[in-house]
Amino acid sequence: MNAPASGLADPVSRRRTFAIISHPDAGKTTLTEKLLLFGGAIQLAGEVKAKRNQRQTRSDWMGIERERGISVVTSVMTFEYGGWVFNLLDTPGHEDFSEDTYRTLTAVDAAVMVLDAAKGIEARTLKLVEVCRLRDIPIVTFINKMDRETMDPFDLLDDIEKTLAMDTTPMTWPIGRGRAFAGTYDLVRSAIRLKDAEEAIPVNGPEDSRIEAMLPEADFQQFVGEVELAAGAAKPFVRQSFLEGHHTPVYWGSALRDMGVKDLIEALGTFAPSPREQKADGRTVTATEERMTGFVFKIQANMDPNHRDRIAFMRVCSGKLQRGMKAKLVRTGKPMSLHTPQFFFAQDRSIADEAFAGDIVGIPNHGTLRIGDTLTEGEDLVFRGVPSFAPEILRRVRAADAMKAKKLKEALQQMAEEGVVQVFLPFDGSQAIVGVVGSLQLDVLAERLKNEYGLEISFETTRFAVCRWVSTTEPAKLDEFSRRDSSAMARDLDGDPVYMATSPYSLRYEEERWPMLKFTDVKDYQ
Ligand code: GDP
Repeated sequence: MNAPASGLADPVSRRRTFAIISHPDAGKTTLTEKLLLFGGAIQLAGEVKAKRNQRQTRSDWMGIERERGISVVTSVMTFEYGGWVFNLLDTPGHEDFSEDTYRTLTAVDAAVMVLDAAKGIEARTLKLVEVCRLRDIPIVTFINKMDRETMDPFDLLDDIEKTLAMDTTPMTWPIGRGRAFAGTYDLVRSAIRLKDAEEAIPVNGPEDSRIEAMLPEADFQQFVGEVELAAGAAKPFVRQSFLEGHHTPVYWGSALRDMGVKDLIEALGTFAPSPREQKADGRTVTATEERMTGFVFKIQANMDPNHRDRIAFMRVCSGKLQRGMKAKLVRTGKPMSLHTPQFFFAQDRSIADEAFAGDIVGIPNHGTLRIGDTLTEGEDLVFRGVPSFAPEILRRVRAADAMKAKKLKEALQQMAEEGVVQVFLPFDGSQAIVGVVGSLQLDVLAERLKNEYGLEISFETTRFAVCRWVSTTEPAKLDEFSRRDSSAMARDLDGDPVYMATSPYSLRYEEERWPMLKFTDVKDYQ
């Protein structure tokens, strides 16, 4: 049953599923547009933004995004280039939605790290790289905005090596920079590429007269010196070490001016892995196994308000997903018909007749699927690793109309299943507490409860500042701990116990007093 199926090897080997990680403003949106443009997925750059705006005006709860000019939505974009099929998973730019980003990173096999050439590694880049590290996600580096004032390229490489503790190998070198930026020099093949729309041109080393003709004399001398140094001092690129997340190939460019982007696409095709094995409880699932498996990493409601739909984004991990097939939802053991699985494009979505490992399909449903769910063709298998993080803000939710308490409880359960917020039900039966990582999540919750459930709500502060999941091998001790203050104990969506502390200090105190209890700040779904 687990032998590779001959028909799957080819589509699987062609697929590259990745995300872009960056600090806001480094150029992620611009680069995304250009990747799609060169990949033939869209005709005109600018459509990614246009599409977002369109979606925002169509969708009522996204008023928040519109007002604040931020993107809350995570979506999937598929494009083809050079025989490869790329699935690019977009992540929200605003750090209040970082949980969404972390979950999305569980569904990719590689990441592109975009840096602003004037700034190097910034706070959010660092945090996202740390998340990639947890899953050994290989990272390709794109140093953007080379057409502007930049840091010294060697200092940028040094910054990556020191800040991220990662080896670097420049694979190209910028020909000039700032106003003089003319293109990229391929250090491996000795070729130059000026504009992305043009083919690479073979040259006779860095001193080639064609390069000389492009740059002011001083810049040319500097370029030749740097290439010599880069070629001499750079570590050789070790793909295995890259695949393990310890070594990053570095590319330079300007997404805005269409330079260096094709180098990057080709690097992703050449070096990034095809869909990787996925760890499940009990065994590891290989992408070319014949039977379909997949897990849900994101739920999005109201992508199209006319249909009031709810889409579960599933990463296919093995086999072939076919339209109309019956899958087993492992959490409930129940079968589920995949009548209308969907693919997403920059501009549209379409029915997916078939999908392979590495593909992301949208499954419309009315609340059957949750984040972290596994679908299979019958096997009782659960993929691990879609995480939940202990929220940093805890608020009690109160319905303006007290008669609607039950409806509120149901609505909150839905919101928790979609991963909008986490919901904790206190042991003492008092009102539900919602937990979020960033306060904008509260605004989204309030707006959605109003628009979709007709519920006016208010948030009240609680005395709690920190929360942790509690587990133990001695249930009696957990009972004893819970009984002392049942208002500080709650159950999450899955019924798992959560302890809420008034301060990090009191949490530490309890941890020391109750060594047989384990307090954790990250939980795998399910
Ligand atoms: P994001 O926040 O990472 O998605 O960044 P954007 O793609 O929205 O870019 C932020 C700003 O930088 C915008 O004004 C872009 O036009 C600009 N920008 C992006 N790439 C480049 C580039 O290569 N060169 C220059 N000069 N500006 C760029």
